[in-house]
Amino acid sequence: MKNSQTSLKDQLNRPLRDLRISVTDRCNFRCPYCMPAEIFGPDFEFLKRAQLLSFEELERLARVFIGSFGVEKIRITGGEPLLRRDLPNLIEKLSSIEGLQDIAMTTNGSLLPKHAKKLKQAGLKRVTVSLDSLNDEIFGKMNGRNIKVETVLDGIKAAAAEGLGVKINMVVQKGINDSEILPMAEYFKRQGHTLRFIEFMDVGNSNKWNLDSVYPKKQILDDLHAVMPIEPIDPNYKGEVATRYRYVGTDKEIGIISSVTDAFCSTCNRARLSAEGKLFTCLFSSKGHDLREPLRSGYSDAQMEKLVSGIWGNRHDQYSVERDQPEKMVSRTKVEMSHIGG
Ligand code: SAM
Ligand code: SF4
Ligand code: SF4
Repeated sequence: MKNSQTSLKDQLNRPLRDLRISVTDRCNFRCPYCMPAEIFGPDFEFLKRAQLLSFEELERLARVFIGSFGVEKIRITGGEPLLRRDLPNLIEKLSSIEGLQDIAMTTNGSLLPKHAKKLKQAGLKRVTVSLDSLNDEIFGKMNGRNIKVETVLDGIKAAAAEGLGVKINMVVQKGINDSEILPMAEYFKRQGHTLRFIEFMDVGNSNKWNLDSVYPKKQILDDLHAVMPIEPIDPNYKGEVATRYRYVGTDKEIGIISSVTDAFCSTCNRARLSAEGKLFTCLFSSKGHDLREPLRSGYSDAQMEKLVSGIWGNRHDQYSVERDQPEKMVSRTKVEMSHIGG
């Protein structure tokens, strides 16, 4: 192991362990909390193919992140990652890099029946499938395209049948789908898939977020506990995003990702790479650092390593901790979630 693997820390003493790679900014859903249809409409300019990092460029960057900084986990995301053509080829390249311990993908699940087998063969280990409701009417509104629940459930079944690990992400919005917390919990407990509730977050600038639309972690826990008693369990590893709970007397779990009411910035070891090669050091960053131009202009691996260590070494992001401090929030423009993935 190189020295830099253990020594690279940001300004708040956090290492870099988790890289999230967005492979496209396009999506076949229009979830209003992420890509509202009125903004991401027919005239919206998505990235052109030449602007996207190629699979070769992504592999090269991944090798630097893993070999030089000790990144252990890669998550492929988007937009909808399964819209990127030949994605299994990228998974194959990444999963063969020495030192990488885990490779996962976050997806809306709709295209998993078509791709699950090839993804598994290519070396993908796990998928997190996003599903916000089991009710077609609620889900149709929350995906912005009237897509049926069954479409996603079929994707989940296809992934599980191929032996991929499956977790479910549910964004909870007050008054929109909080009534679905218990039905979702009961269903996925029976199915044996860990369900993770995500507080509705103020990512980007287009989802009309306000604090009143957040259904807080405490409320989610109270709702569950009243019907299905749960108890906290230890994190799997330092920096895990979800806090974990177990249904009492079972080995079935749920998780809560509470970026709004219970921030976890102090252990945040995640970097995010957008589809056009910008490195973001926080989900709520205003700007990313371009890695594509240096890559395409012939930087060596050593030069790329120096560039990334400079960026991470200067990092002091802790947006969720500062959210309540108006002086730090003045007219802040933030990157859109569909640009960098979750
Ligand atoms: N399209 C894929 C999907 O939906 O799983 C991957 C990209 S999506 C941006 C990644 C995750 O971010 C999803 O689980 C989604 O529900 C979550 N997400 C998007 N906007 C959000 C918001 N405003 N608050 C909380 N989670 C959000
Ligand atoms: Fe698409 Fe995922 Fe965003 Fe929904 S959350 S619009 S599925 S990128
Ligand atoms: Fe990490 Fe930024 Fe989220 Fe804090 S707000 S946990 S620093 S991504």
